[in-house]
Amino acid sequence: MAYSYEAPVSQSLFDRASVVTPGGVNSPVRAFRAVGGTPRFMVSGTGPYLTDADDREYVDLVCSWGPMILGHSHPEVIAAVQEAVSRGTSFGTPGEGEVALAEEIVARIEPVEQVRLVSSGTEATMSAIRLARGFTGRAKVVKFAGCYHGHVDALLAAAGSGVATFGLPDTPGVTGATAGDTVVLPYNDLDAVRAAFAAHPGEIACVITEASPGNMGVVPSADGFNAGLKELCAANGALYISDEVMTGFRTSKAGWYGVDGVRPDLMTFGKVMGGGFPAAAFGGRGDVMAHLAPAGPVYQAGTLSGNPVATAAGLAQLRLLDDAAYAKIDAVSAELRSLVGDALTKQGVAHTVSAASNMFSVFFTDRPVRNYDDAKKQDVFRFTAFFHSMLEQGVYLPPSAFESWFVSTAHDERAVERIAAALPAAARAASEATA
Ligand code: PLP
Repeated sequence: MAYSYEAPVSQSLFDRASVVTPGGVNSPVRAFRAVGGTPRFMVSGTGPYLTDADDREYVDLVCSWGPMILGHSHPEVIAAVQEAVSRGTSFGTPGEGEVALAEEIVARIEPVEQVRLVSSGTEATMSAIRLARGFTGRAKVVKFAGCYHGHVDALLAAAGSGVATFGLPDTPGVTGATAGDTVVLPYNDLDAVRAAFAAHPGEIACVITEASPGNMGVVPSADGFNAGLKELCAANGALYISDEVMTGFRTSKAGWYGVDGVRPDLMTFGKVMGGGFPAAAFGGRGDVMAHLAPAGPVYQAGTLSGNPVATAAGLAQLRLLDDAAYAKIDAVSAELRSLVGDALTKQGVAHTVSAASNMFSVFFTDRPVRNYDDAKKQDVFRFTAFFHSMLEQGVYLPPSAFESWFVSTAHDERAVERIAAALPAAARAASEATA
């Protein structure tokens, strides 16, 4: 596909980066490989806008993949960070900020009795799984195809087809032994979970699931699915782990738990709770968390865990996220969903706008999408054309058809108008695209 617009400064930075960094990026999706073209190197962000190295401004619908729920450079978050930085950047000791952040999480999310702070969502899910294995004395982990839980070795197994598949390593470097204790099942399929428990009696430590998935595009958990998981786990002595790294503090004040009310045994958080800094957490039932060192025998640690600057940013952000903030995000999300849907309908493009609370994405198919196999059956080439048209017109979408779009409280009328103005041409590009 040829692109009619250029980004010379980003291109030269990408060339430099590609010499010293594999693929030129520090996280693969950023490289634009799914859509082609030059990844934009961003220089600054304000409110709903990002500015790239070529001095072009974009309305940002990625929001750093979720964290920037108040928009970029929110003055109160920046002030909290500046105040924290002025006192030092890391002490390697306990500090009041991490207590306050833990208290805020425990106060918001009722099933979380205790919480441990870490630095990334990957660390949170990795540690939660270790704790579940340590607590139950069992080895196997059930996960769902299309759910992403970070780059934890055991969780990169997402072996494709069929029901109750034993995980095969999805990437070189993950050994069969590591992935062999991972059972990968189709999402939204309780019968498959029932069958897995029947096939492995007394062996499954936990079921981990995205609370409502956003990593295969947005595929909402079907009514009763999470409740069914909880019930099956309880009946079989396994722990139910809800990964709220993406949904936590985003889909409501209490994340997805605030939407479906199903009580997990353990939960994982990241993204929003770090205010744009590396902060994440896992927490849940007090009797389970009591197994964690130094209270218990399951080891887990981190030099920068509870970092004072990261906790100050996260706390400032969470304290600003009141009911009015969520009402605003929900309303902007609803407005954008309807604008996108109308534009694609007008151009006769088969599509499904799929939403879970204020998270949403577009599948270029009109067949229902309930799991990863369904998500893969869309016309990805139409997304590519749509993406590049939006980018050219100054709207920054996730560079993949399998990612959630994110909005913030800063997405005001002007930002929405700019998106609305870009949609007709992008929808036309999608309708004219060929495979
Ligand atoms: N879990 C979920 C649901 C995620 O969406 C992500 C990241 O996108 C992670 C875990 C991993 O988080 P991190 O990228 O901070 O390691």
